[in-house]
Amino acid sequence: MSVVDRQEWDVVVVGAGGAGLRAAIEARERGARTAVICKSLFGKAHTVMAEGGIAAAMGNVNPGDNWQVHFRDTLRGGKFLNQWRMAELHAKEAPDRVWELETWGALFDRTADGRISQRNFGGHEYPRLAHVGDRTGLELIRTLQQKIVSLQQQDKKETGDYESRLKVFQECTVTRVLKDGSRVSGVFGYERESGRFLVLEAPSVVIATGGIGKSFKVTSNSWEYTGDGHALALLAGAPLLNMEFVQFHPTGMVWPPSVKGILVTESVRGDGGVLRNSEGKRFMFDYIPDVFKEKYAESEDEGDGWYEDPDHHRRPPELLPRDEVARAINSEVKAGRGSPHGGVFLDVSTRMPAEVIRRRLPSMYHQFKELADVDITAEAMEVGPTCHYVMGGIAVDSDTAAARGVPGLYAAGEVAGGMHGSNRLGGNSLSDLLVFGRRAGRYAAEHAAEQTAGRPGQPGRPQTDDAQVDAAAAEALRPFSAEGPPADGEPAAARAPENPYTLHQELQQTMNDLVGIIRREGEMEQALERLSALRVRARRAGVEGHRQFNPGWHLALDLRNMLLVSECVARAALERTESRGGHTREDHPTMERHWRHVNLLCALADPGATDPAPGQIALTREDTEPIRPDLLALFEKDELVKYLAEEELYE
Ligand code: FAD
Repeated sequence: MSVVDRQEWDVVVVGAGGAGLRAAIEARERGARTAVICKSLFGKAHTVMAEGGIAAAMGNVNPGDNWQVHFRDTLRGGKFLNQWRMAELHAKEAPDRVWELETWGALFDRTADGRISQRNFGGHEYPRLAHVGDRTGLELIRTLQQKIVSLQQQDKKETGDYESRLKVFQECTVTRVLKDGSRVSGVFGYERESGRFLVLEAPSVVIATGGIGKSFKVTSNSWEYTGDGHALALLAGAPLLNMEFVQFHPTGMVWPPSVKGILVTESVRGDGGVLRNSEGKRFMFDYIPDVFKEKYAESEDEGDGWYEDPDHHRRPPELLPRDEVARAINSEVKAGRGSPHGGVFLDVSTRMPAEVIRRRLPSMYHQFKELADVDITAEAMEVGPTCHYVMGGIAVDSDTAAARGVPGLYAAGEVAGGMHGSNRLGGNSLSDLLVFGRRAGRYAAEHAAEQTAGRPGQPGRPQTDDAQVDAAAAEALRPFSAEGPPADGEPAAARAPENPYTLHQELQQTMNDLVGIIRREGEMEQALERLSALRVRARRAGVEGHRQFNPGWHLALDLRNMLLVSECVARAALERTESRGGHTREDHPTMERHWRHVNLLCALADPGATDPAPGQIALTREDTEPIRPDLLALFEKDELVKYLAEEELYE
């Protein structure tokens, strides 16, 4: 067996983005010996890329804001499919999490009277996003990292060892969650640089690995987003919830091709940027759906007035939730009114003085100048939809972040499902990471303490048997021998090794073309066929060389995860015969009230199977939990009628 390092911890956190770091801090502060493991360098997680800000109803800019309004906006954005208890906890706890960051050293932009400034964002009724220019994620991670270092310094004073209670394993990838019966017992992974294997044993594992964007060709996501955590949970026996809901952000760069998909933050529109088609028309006024008609301006004058006097004007439709804007852009391009490179125009240059643009949107200014040679203070940007965020994820308990069905497994951040329903509002992810990262850390620490207490009648600390570790090592080494067994009926020639990069490209093209922003039944069936063929070929993904930093090998291992997750997305998208939030069916274009109380769960069809036959994922339906009456009472009946089924209204 090639394991070089086997260590015991109380809590292992997989992922060092905002959710993972917040979970680790909480677990350590509650007395658990905590290990954090991350694929990239410590401090380089995807969260760093977050630009716009953290949504929290602090009411600093408009005193009308409070948790109830934030809760309402979040449910409207998610089209009422959110796990309502998560949305409630999130809205209530987000302000405390932002203030806490300041006590740990974060420095947010201020209002004129010195309070934390908050900016407008799509779908939020009031200015709500606490921000640091357009580099909020960087400040968030820097602060959490600094907090971790301060805890390690405290540990050094008390124990003589910086890493005695909190240790970061950077550039290590987890490939399996290990179990003792049904309980979690740790994780198996490899060091990316040396290729050596690593086992961290622990009664609690928090998954905080972020999203899945790298399964799609055009995406704003970083290289880390290969759906690892989703797949790890699935393979460990935990179901994934509502995977059909993938958010396509309306504004990614469309040019030049090398940077296609890179995000253009929503703050551009929040701060006054407008969308125009090739005829110069502000087309968003033509795309306000009925459910939002009362809240959005009908004319350019009214929309423009809102920036100065929001109490007496309705907001411009450029600030509709992301799914609406992305679909509108898609329609304009399809109708032949797009920009030269297949997007539309987003203009701030005619709306704000150059020096204000450079101050408020410094990253955007540099991004366009350096990557596209476009000066956004003088000309419009070309933008189009890009795969950005996954609302679907590991099914968790709202209060404790415990993954369903696997004691000891927790999930927080983008990898967890439920919080955002069918569509996430901008800014609600960073707050989600902090609120549920903290909760996951807390309950993971409590679970670990219970498991290690060794009380009579309790099973005691879970154990990891060697056979499981050997199997995980063999699976990880398979790309070096690249001779996966041929599937039934496959010709012998089909056993030749497959290039992981080719497989990845084919997967991305499949998901982009057939399970993308607008979906159709026949195309998704075709996607499932292609995915099943790719899965068989991926078993033979072969690499040359050795285990020292070998990106081809890493990709070969990531492919398993991307394929599993993509199948979940395609199966759930095929099943949901309506359009809601991030899921748009051309053949079922309307939102159906009877679908509002349906959750779709994906699980492994045969958890013990080794042959990747078609139909690996089993899909089941379950009823959503009825929304608590006092929360429903926050909405007007007229509005509820648009979302809830007849019997729910009656109740
Ligand atoms: P991440 O920050 O991605 O962290 C995941 C961690 O898991 C990383 O450390 C990674 O190395 C690790 N990991 C992954 N797989 C493995 C594995 N197998 N083994 C070990 N480690 C693993 N949201 C907002 O609310 N406001 C914004 O302004 C905003 N702006 C955004 C801008 C951009 C360009 C993008 C792409 C997203 C933006 N978002 C924003 C969304 C938000 O940034 C993400 O949803 C959020 O940062 C996810 O955080 P996380 O902690 O869940 O995951």
